[in-house]
This record gives sequence, structure tokens and C-alpha cells, in this order.
Amino acid sequence: MSTPHRPYNFSAGPAVLPEEVLRQAAEEMLDWHGSGMSVMEMSHRGKEFISIYEDAERTVRALLQVPSNFRILFMQGGGLGENAIVPMNLSRGGLVDVVVTGSWSQKSLKEAGKYADARAAASNEADGHHSLPAAAGWQLREGAAYLHICSNETIHGVEYPELPDLAALGSTAPLVMDASSHILSRPIDWSRVGALFAGAQKNIGPAGVTLVFVREDLLDRALPICPSAFNYKLVAENQSMFNTPPTYGIYIAGLVFQWIARQGGVPEMERRAIERATLVYNALDHSGGFYRNPVAPAARSRMNIPFFLADESLNDAFLAGAREAGLLQLKGHKSVGGMRASLYNAMPLAGAQALVDYLQDFARRHG
Ligand SMILES: *Cc1c(COP(=O)(O)O)cnc(C)c1O
Repeated sequence: MSTPHRPYNFSAGPAVLPEEVLRQAAEEMLDWHGSGMSVMEMSHRGKEFISIYEDAERTVRALLQVPSNFRILFMQGGGLGENAIVPMNLSRGGLVDVVVTGSWSQKSLKEAGKYADARAAASNEADGHHSLPAAAGWQLREGAAYLHICSNETIHGVEYPELPDLAALGSTAPLVMDASSHILSRPIDWSRVGALFAGAQKNIGPAGVTLVFVREDLLDRALPICPSAFNYKLVAENQSMFNTPPTYGIYIAGLVFQWIARQGGVPEMERRAIERATLVYNALDHSGGFYRNPVAPAARSRMNIPFFLADESLNDAFLAGAREAGLLQLKGHKSVGGMRASLYNAMPLAGAQALVDYLQDFARRHG
């Protein structure tokens, strides 16, 4: 007998969470661990919440093998907030280089320009954001305060297979990464990173928490205009409690971190990500042209797979049939159209398989 399951949710974010985590949160909703309170009702300075916070920090540090000279901050403001918070903290009003590989890094470049002299070091705009510009050709300015990349472009489906080694490119600039949509799906080579941020609502938990990892030597560079609540040094000195942190989101994030650890950690998340993505890309590539993913194979994201039907007049029928088959939120981002399947950590392999079955069935019926 098969157990009934919830529909598979392919949303790009806010996105699917592990069912186990949702059930645990439901069980603990009215009374967390005998405290008589919901986590939402607790003081952020009480011993209960402090233990939740410390556990979340410790678990994510262990999962990602974050070195001790990095501070982990639980902030608010989201990925787009960080587009301003990063230059306010790290640019010193100087030069900021950005590698443009899609919508998100494009937005980062534009926002950084409010606080610094921001310029594109490279761009894949000419090919529709479908490849990665080779690092050897990046125009890195001497004395740049940092170089920004978006390591997984959620809308265009472009992911760096490995992090650039700026030192090998002759640059001393720290690398800043927006890893919002693939954090915890692959290991991070921290020797190449200065700062990394990730909004929670893709691979971590509910919207409202933003994880920031900052190398300690970069903590004290904020512009005077930087709001205190967004000043990395102040936030670090106050264990993310300079002001009230998003407590419930941190709690759920902590449950997700524990869930990842129970599954086998980041290596297992990566193995599953490769397995899911390979299934879906194979189905798209072997559809006889019925479906198409436009991204260069070497730059394809394991998390976000945009695809198009050759006959776009079938789009509505495709989405309606998908919903009926229990496959939710496959509509592409409005800026690119078509479809998008996001396959985050919490997506079971069976969900990717159900999508592939639907893709093949729909193509058979309409091909
Ligand atoms: C979703 C996303 C963002 C935006 O995050 P907000 O929380 O909406 O500000 C930024 N960068 C990337 C790569 C994203 O996927």
C-alpha cells in the first residue's frame, strides 16, 4: 500500500520544506519542549530561544565546515537587502566588481552602484544569460573592495560548477557570493570566500531570515551611513541579537539543518541534487525537441531548471495538467516565461521522477 503524499512543489521560493520538519514544527507549535510556549512567543534573550539559536548556528557551521575565522549572522532583509547591506559593509565607497550571469547579479550590480563605483567585470548578457563567462577573461580592477558573484542564478538556471580562485587570477579582492538558491546543496571552498549570503526561503526555511557568513577581517569596514541593525560588526558582536532576530524562522532553519545532518549532511544533499537534476535534464534533452533548456551544459543549475515547450500555445494545458498530477508551481519566472522546475534539497527523488513521468506523458499526448 502506498502512503498518500503531499503534492510535489517546484516553486523557486518560498519553496518546499522537508515534511518531517513541518510535522515537528506542528507538534511543537503550542508547547516547545515543555516550556509552555510556542517558539513565536519566547523572548529572544531567554534560555530557551538562546539554545535554539546556538544549536542552529552550531549545526550549520558543522554542515558547511565553516572555518572558525568566519562569523555566521542571522539577519533580515533577504537577498535583495544584502545587495545594499554588502556594499554598505564592505565597499568602503570604493570599487566593486560584479560578474553578471543573470537577473540576480544584475540587480546586485545596480544596487551596489548606489554606494560604490560598481562595474561589471564580465557579463553573459549577450548570450541571454545562458553560460558562464570564463574567469580568465574577467576585468578585475586593481584595488577593488570585493568581487560579487551569484553562484546560482535562480531565474536563468546558471550555476558555477566551482568557485573562482581570485588569487590565481592575480586579484586580492575578497569574493562575495549570493548563494541564496543553492546553499547547503554542495560544499563550499571557504578559502576562496570573503563573505557569503543566502536568503532562507529556498534551501533553508521560511522567508524572513538571511544567513550571512563573513570573514572576521572584513567585519569592520562599514560606511557611516550603514544602519546599525545591518552593520555586520554590531550584529556579530551581539550574536545576531542587536535587534530582535526573526526567531521563528531561525527555529525552522535549525530544524532543517538537523534534518540535513540526519540525511547524511551536505555530501548527501549534493548526491541527491545531482541525481534529481540528471533525471530532469535527460528527460528534457531526449524529448525530441518537445522541450528545451537553453543553458550551456557546463553551466546548468542543479537547483533551478528553466525549460520551454517548443509549442508555447500548450503552456496553459501543461500547467493545468501538472497541477492535476500533483506537480505544483512549475510556471517560469515572468521575466523569461516558459516553465521552471526548482529541485531544492527538500524535493524527494520521487518528485523529480514524477515530473519526468509527466513531461514524457504530456509530450506523448501532444507530440
Ligand atoms: C530569491 C533570491 C534573491 C532575493 O531574495 P529576497 O529574499 O526576495 O530579497 C536574491 N538572490 C537570489 C540568488 C535569489 O534566488
